Amino acid sequence: MKDHAFPIVDIARARSARGFRLSCVVPLYNEVGVVGDFLEALHAYVREITPNIELVVVNDGSSDGSAAEVLARAGHLPLHYIELSRNFGKEHAIQAGLDAASGDCVVVIDADFQHPIRLIGAMVDRWIHGIDMVYAVKADRRGEGWVRRALGALFYRVLSLEAGATIPRNAGDFRLIDSRVVNVLRALPERTRFMKGLYAWVGFSSEAIPFVPAQRRGGETKFSGRKLARLAITGLMAFSSLPLRAVSVAGLLISLGAFAFGGWILFQKLFLQQPIPGFATVAASVTLLSGIQLLALGIVGQYVGCIFDEVKGRPSYIAARTIDTAQRTRPASVSNLPADERNRA
Ligand code: UDP
Ligand code: MG
Repeated sequence: MKDHAFPIVDIARARSARGFRLSCVVPLYNEVGVVGDFLEALHAYVREITPNIELVVVNDGSSDGSAAEVLARAGHLPLHYIELSRNFGKEHAIQAGLDAASGDCVVVIDADFQHPIRLIGAMVDRWIHGIDMVYAVKADRRGEGWVRRALGALFYRVLSLEAGATIPRNAGDFRLIDSRVVNVLRALPERTRFMKGLYAWVGFSSEAIPFVPAQRRGGETKFSGRKLARLAITGLMAFSSLPLRAVSVAGLLISLGAFAFGGWILFQKLFLQQPIPGFATVAASVTLLSGIQLLALGIVGQYVGCIFDEVKGRPSYIAARTIDTAQRTRPASVSNLPADERNRA
């Protein structure tokens, strides 16, 4: 599959009269081997689109010297560097980046070269034509086993039904977001952030661009099977009460079954003069029912845990320090325009 061709020159010409600011949000966790090259390559590409750019790099508690790699480039790159006080996870790192981004449009992109940089041009092109959210979808998942693919398909089907908005399965965090949508995402009060769900939930016009993810240039993935499963549970809890309904229905069905079974035993005793079956039946039903009760309690507990997290009201990330060298390249005329002035004609 071929990536979108991108007419850089046309876009630059179309917007050059007014100019627009482009922010690139890069979540970063232990990418010392790649981040330097990545930022250089990203900058070299996006400055062809518009001169007014900032690279919002969110260091999500890296412990491997990634910070030094980034800061070494503060002198010549328009860098807005945010260092979180520890590893908060990619979702929160992206949130921190969106909160800090000042662009008219914001691109979220991974630091490991898996998201092709040249797709940004096609995204900006669609944005200029009035699309508020342009997201990249993986065109090829053949590398994954069929079990994982089937589970993924089921998960997104359920989640989309529950969320009331289609959450595209193959879309990730690689996307361009208009500043109006960024403002809406910032204003959402929830702390349990499942970004994929939120992007779909907020609505606005959106469009997909297919891409084939590249190999990682260095380092390794930070998402183990366990982390992915936890993310899936977070998504389900944040967007759906389906597990609660499922256990309620299970409870109802089991109660009906138990009632019928009790009636049958009584009937045998009273009318057929048969002895009541003994220990095995009782033991089996007690273990089954306590198992189901514990499961139900666990599911309710998960939701209570989510409520507890929200009620505590702790911030979803803590920025330990911020260095903004992109500030000085920002022309006041663009960032000071009222929102609807900045909107595309
Ligand atoms: N990342 C992060 N915090 C984390 C894990 C990952 O900011 O806790 C960043 C990571 O540095 C990379 C991006 O998120 O820029 C995607 O991570 P990764 O490549 O490990 O995920 P995968 O591509 O395997 O899904
Ligand atoms: Mg990756």
